[in-house]
Amino acid sequence: MTTHTAQAKIIEPLIYELSASGRKAETLMPKLDVPEAEPLPNNLLRDSLDLPEVSELDVVRHFLRLSQLNHAIDKGFYPLGSCTMKYNPKIDEDTARLPGFANLHPLQPPETAQGALALMYKLQEWLCEISGMKGCSLQPAAGAQGELAGILMIRAYHQERGDVKRTKILVPDSAHGTNPATSTMAGYTVVTLPSDERGDVDLNALRAAADDTVAGMMITVPSTLGVFDENIKEIIKIVHDCGGLMYMDGANMNALLGVVKPGELGFDVMHYNLHKTFSTPHGGGGPGSGPVAVNEKLLPYLPGPIVAIVEQAPEPDSAPRYGFVMPAKSIGRLKAFHGNFGMHVRAYTYIALHGAEGLKAISRHAVLNANYVRVRLADTYKVPYNRMCGHEFVLEGRFADAPDIRALDISKRLMDYGIHPPTNYFPLIVHEALLIEPTESESKETLDRFIAAMHAIAQEARETPELLHSAPHTMPVSRVDEVYAAKNLVLCCRLPSAE
Ligand SMILES: *Cc1c(COP(=O)(O)O)cnc(C)c1O
Repeated sequence: MTTHTAQAKIIEPLIYELSASGRKAETLMPKLDVPEAEPLPNNLLRDSLDLPEVSELDVVRHFLRLSQLNHAIDKGFYPLGSCTMKYNPKIDEDTARLPGFANLHPLQPPETAQGALALMYKLQEWLCEISGMKGCSLQPAAGAQGELAGILMIRAYHQERGDVKRTKILVPDSAHGTNPATSTMAGYTVVTLPSDERGDVDLNALRAAADDTVAGMMITVPSTLGVFDENIKEIIKIVHDCGGLMYMDGANMNALLGVVKPGELGFDVMHYNLHKTFSTPHGGGGPGSGPVAVNEKLLPYLPGPIVAIVEQAPEPDSAPRYGFVMPAKSIGRLKAFHGNFGMHVRAYTYIALHGAEGLKAISRHAVLNANYVRVRLADTYKVPYNRMCGHEFVLEGRFADAPDIRALDISKRLMDYGIHPPTNYFPLIVHEALLIEPTESESKETLDRFIAAMHAIAQEARETPELLHSAPHTMPVSRVDEVYAAKNLVLCCRLPSAE
């Protein structure tokens, strides 16, 4: 089936097909009792605007139907590895929509937005506390932008010291793909470090690469194999001894809250993904938030502006005055205004409601859930690094006795069981990888249903492999030609006219 016919099936009938000249969404308004506004000047008017003419009910049905075609965390299990698709508590949405927050204008004077600045200040403080770092900027709009901020800070640090020989960033092959991409964007040469047979960084390779041309190392903790490197302190020491700085990709902090503080381990800089760990909706394009946290060495270079207390509280019970300040040697702005403030409100709410003990419980349950599923699936699937994992783990989606089944077939078949596929073909160092992250939000019953589905699929792979090859069967769109779909994007709800 081509994507075109598949797409026609999704939106049936297409909103353009419902269009009838003159039909509109009628809203009955009382007669005007105020003067009519001036009509728009002619130069702002168009002769025609090719939009469907439909009723309000048509519009409501169109969008509701579209929303139901999507899988969402509010609809079903979503074990998409590395993405932390946990439940997004609705109270986070309530606070983000409070008019005092939602209706702020980013250019209004800080004196008129002290509550918002207090919230950002507190969030910066909490993110420092959770990471064991000394300073934090909420500017970056996503994890990948936080990474860029971190590497630019490392570069500024070396440059200021006149240490210009350092042109390399070390990146293990178990790192998230954004890590080498970030290093390259910041102008560095990436040196890839292999993993050893346990999935940890190969220390001999690290020692051989660590010299005075190394600006730093970017490491994902736990790695994309889901494992916490057993030699992390040794790794940090080797890199520091050669004069490099340590960057921790903290997108996987869901495994570490209240358990490990990266700053105490010796990391110099890290980023968070508020939209993962602190539960704001993501998938489908954001917005996200990727704050960076640093130790003393990098404090002056933080991207800004950040929120600071600009005048202490006059009396013990009164509030201090908050303002935006630019750190002394800041790498500059990364984002218009002050980052994605709505995400700050959501993350603040989430952290405030859970408290220190609650956050620790989150990570403990996330790790417990991942290990439970890992152990229960290891009888049926190959788990290449079968050891205690963090919040996620990797399976091989292939079987010796069903050679033409691939990870993609398993993922597509999972959709028929009402489950979102895991992350496919990532990390790259595992053949036919399926990266599974259950998160702490899921009950044992849901995990058991997932395990049962995975077991059933493993049996189908041997007995009725064509069921997997042609899956999904219950979705509005069945198996698409992904190469064709990527090369011929159809982004409009109208089919291209038949030529
Ligand atoms: C998601 C993720 C990133 C990138 O974060 P974005 O917000 O998508 O830019 C980086 N590293 C890891 C380990 C991740 O899981």
